[in-house]
Amino acid sequence: MKLILLGAPGAGKGTQAARISAALGIPAISTGDIIRSAIKTGSPLGLELKSYTDKGALVPDELVVALLQDRLKDADCENGYILDGFPRTIEQAKFLDRAVHIDRVVNIVVEDEVIVRRMGGRRFCPTCHATFHTVYSKPQVEGICDHCKAPLTIRDDDKPETVLHRLKVYHDQTEPLEAHYADIMLSVDGTRDVEVIASEILEGLKA
Ligand SMILES: [Zn+2]
Repeated sequence: MKLILLGAPGAGKGTQAARISAALGIPAISTGDIIRSAIKTGSPLGLELKSYTDKGALVPDELVVALLQDRLKDADCENGYILDGFPRTIEQAKFLDRAVHIDRVVNIVVEDEVIVRRMGGRRFCPTCHATFHTVYSKPQVEGICDHCKAPLTIRDDDKPETVLHRLKVYHDQTEPLEAHYADIMLSVDGTRDVEVIASEILEGLKA
């Protein structure tokens, strides 16, 4: 089964991608990972990609789809795959549509408020890189790392202004994909327990 996983940043796509991948025996593929590993090879294509990422520029859609198509030829994709984090725009979806046939799109729906609360509560230890949450996984002493006693910080990615900006980009650019893929879309409520969401997705994909 060839799947796309949609959902706002912080909706839990990575977690569900791992569950679906394990349950169906198909790989979860992130274009970010493909780009990073192509850069590592130092090939002419890798160098071209590096010229974009070094500038902080987006890699052109055509190039990403070409890379993706190449990855999808690998033996582990024989029975399908899950695309996590791509496409993010209608233009990318159109490129992808021309390259591959997608069976289903799983959309993990979580309201902005919940995402802001989830991400805003994340705390990070700059010393040992442990992660905590002010509600879901509290440190023993508020603001202090359980493991190395260093003061915890908030990563830039988790600051409310960053989260709100990423949500706005998602609503503007990625949400239109819901209409684009309406015919093959399975929407699930992403605010419940991880296991409940995973089993609803797997049931839905059987239907
Ligand atoms: Zn620590």
